[in-house]
Amino acid sequence: MSLYTDQKYVGLISPRLDLFKQVRPNLWNSRCPICGDSHKNKSKKRMYIYAKKQDLFVKCHNCGYGASLGNFIKQLDPHLHGQYVMERYGQGQTGRGKTKEPEFHFEKPKFKPRPQKIELPSIGELDEEHFARKYFESRKLPESFKDKVYFAADFKKWAEDISNIDYSNLGKEEPRMVIPFFDTEGKLIAAQGRALGRNELRYITIKVDEDSPKIYGLDRWTPETTTYIVEGPIDSMFLPNCLAVAGGDLQSIKIDKKQCVLIFDNEPRNEHTVKKLMKSIDDGWAVVIWSKGKKFKDINDLIMSGLSTDEILEMINKTTMKGLEADWAAREWRNVQ
Ligand SMILES: [Zn+2]
Repeated sequence: MSLYTDQKYVGLISPRLDLFKQVRPNLWNSRCPICGDSHKNKSKKRMYIYAKKQDLFVKCHNCGYGASLGNFIKQLDPHLHGQYVMERYGQGQTGRGKTKEPEFHFEKPKFKPRPQKIELPSIGELDEEHFARKYFESRKLPESFKDKVYFAADFKKWAEDISNIDYSNLGKEEPRMVIPFFDTEGKLIAAQGRALGRNELRYITIKVDEDSPKIYGLDRWTPETTTYIVEGPIDSMFLPNCLAVAGGDLQSIKIDKKQCVLIFDNEPRNEHTVKKLMKSIDDGWAVVIWSKGKKFKDINDLIMSGLSTDEILEMINKTTMKGLEADWAAREWRNVQ
């Protein structure tokens, strides 16, 4: 019954949470009342309430705040907290055998280490008229990534500088938009270069070491909450707690299948994509099977068509499935005309 009580108190505390919204069963999202969330962007909401076993917890992806739901309520509304404790721990208890509120063990407030410095100008540092900045803006990439995406006038040379692998045959000297991949400690492990002109090789992903995982977003990842996994780093920038496997292998990181949702591109005609999707369903992953009849290729396409992140999350959550249901829907999806 404790989860039921927790859910009820999420409802009771919600009027105090700006832009509060249920994302899916047992996952809620709002602005963070602890840090106030982004002051520049009033629509940013990085606090999540999520279930772990039979309890609910609160976590902010901006300030790193983490607490049990009970302690969070205590901080916001001590009076409501009194009721909560009565209802959750008082019920059905006799004598002195009152259960204590579970200790919240979230291994000390984890502040993500600062990522390694990249010796390139960030998109935000470029002149407003610069073609790389224009490109970044034309794809409607989030403002908050302007200092996390870079520009290399000669991508090959930069790759040779940072990598222990021989990239001397990477092609000719050319400018690219650079998306660096960091590990959970903020160490540079790989990077993707997006061509800015016409080029057959639109994306090149390079590694720092031979065994570096080609997985983007590990430095911002919170494994304890729902993790979305997409194919392209750019797509991942639009979703909360999202990793991108840029040709990488999920086996290379420790990840809990039960907490993940795999999102493949909407390419029912692409044999490679279909094969990967069917294999993931076989392997027991929860996957998104896009609704038929919608014309778009990936998350970035949806953003370009004017959808908000919330609307996309709603689409994703409605079409997340696994097992036989996913298998059935995937077969339907790949048969679209
Ligand atoms: Zn916060």
